[in-house]
Amino acid sequence: MSVLIFIDTADGHVKKASLEAMTYGAKIAEQLGTSAEGIVLGTSKDDLATLGRYGVKKIHHVKNETLNHLDAQVYAKLIAQVAVQTGAKVIVFSNNVDGKAIAPRLSARMKAGLVSGAIALPDTSKGFVVKKSVFSGKAFANISLNTDVKIISLSPNAYQTIAGEGVAEIINTEIAADASKVKVTAVNKLSGEILLTEADIVVSAGRGMKGPENWGMVEELAKLLHAATACSRPVADAHWRPHNEHVGQTGIAIAPNLYIAIGISGAIQHLAGVNRSKVIVVINKDPEAPFFKAADYGIVGDAFEVLPKMIEAVKKLKGVA
Ligand SMILES: Cc1cc2nc3c(=O)[nH]c(=O)nc-3n(C[C@H](O)[C@H](O)[C@H](O)COP(=O)(O)OP(=O)(O)OC[C@H]3O[C@@H](n4cnc5c(N)ncnc54)[C@H](O)[C@@H]3O)c2cc1C
Repeated sequence: MSVLIFIDTADGHVKKASLEAMTYGAKIAEQLGTSAEGIVLGTSKDDLATLGRYGVKKIHHVKNETLNHLDAQVYAKLIAQVAVQTGAKVIVFSNNVDGKAIAPRLSARMKAGLVSGAIALPDTSKGFVVKKSVFSGKAFANISLNTDVKIISLSPNAYQTIAGEGVAEIINTEIAADASKVKVTAVNKLSGEILLTEADIVVSAGRGMKGPENWGMVEELAKLLHAATACSRPVADAHWRPHNEHVGQTGIAIAPNLYIAIGISGAIQHLAGVNRSKVIVVINKDPEAPFFKAADYGIVGDAFEVLPKMIEAVKKLKGVA
């Protein structure tokens, strides 16, 4: 028996969310008195053995180049095969785009109970109970998994990455992968930008910015803070900003260490996608704006006055002219 962790890569590099999944999976293995193993599909540019620092003892690497692009059906079949071979009883994913596509398919294939979006380690004192947030973060559900194999997908940023010492044994696994039915015809990359889902800091703005011509200040602050930019839904709907920046219930859910919300009212549908951020700073000229209730720090003021001052202060702090 072991805990198997799916190690997600982008352009051959291991994603930050997978480091969290490994730390989390290794802790579950410790709870269950077993060992944590990882699985990587496709070629990798990273030295996978160094991932032993996150608690994985072995990494099963299926190097096949055809696996460099996600096909959730093909991936689920391969992960199931490796899980059976290794006797994995708990399989861990990050609840990111890949995890959301693969975990439910694997769950159906292996007849394994699945909790998606876990936010804490399972309680193994009475069975196997996994906590997740529900109703857009308004409540928690504790879900008991009773199947022989259990699958958990971990909410990004819900569990802190801990790097220790250790080197993982790499096992090059020769398994034939099914031909993918997915054909990648084009890859459009947002060059030079920080990926919203991976960003530690996010600078986000809403309708309070009045129009797309005023986003220069938002972008400048984001650049100085090495942050990703985001926006509220009406801003994306009005084409002031691209749709891949829209966060919230119907957009991307994020949980950065710092979320700076500028001229956003804080509607429940917006909060649903950002309320797991570690620290929330709200800038709004209306002291009654609902977002202040969710904020750790608030600035009541006009964004057009506050932002230039913030930019100035950050520049001073960083010694940038
Ligand atoms: C089914 C459904 C799903 C939805 N999903 C999402 C979602 O995923 N994400 C999302 O964001 N929304 C979503 N919405 C929309 C949501 O309800 C709100 O309408 C939206 O979040 C409001 O965006 P906003 O805060 O940018 O704009 P507004 O509500 O117009 O708020 C603008 C804010 O800016 C402040 N302001 C104005 N001028 C300034 C200034 N100069 N300086 C500082 N502050 C200023 C105002 O005081 C106000 O609080 C959804 C709605 C529905 C019905």
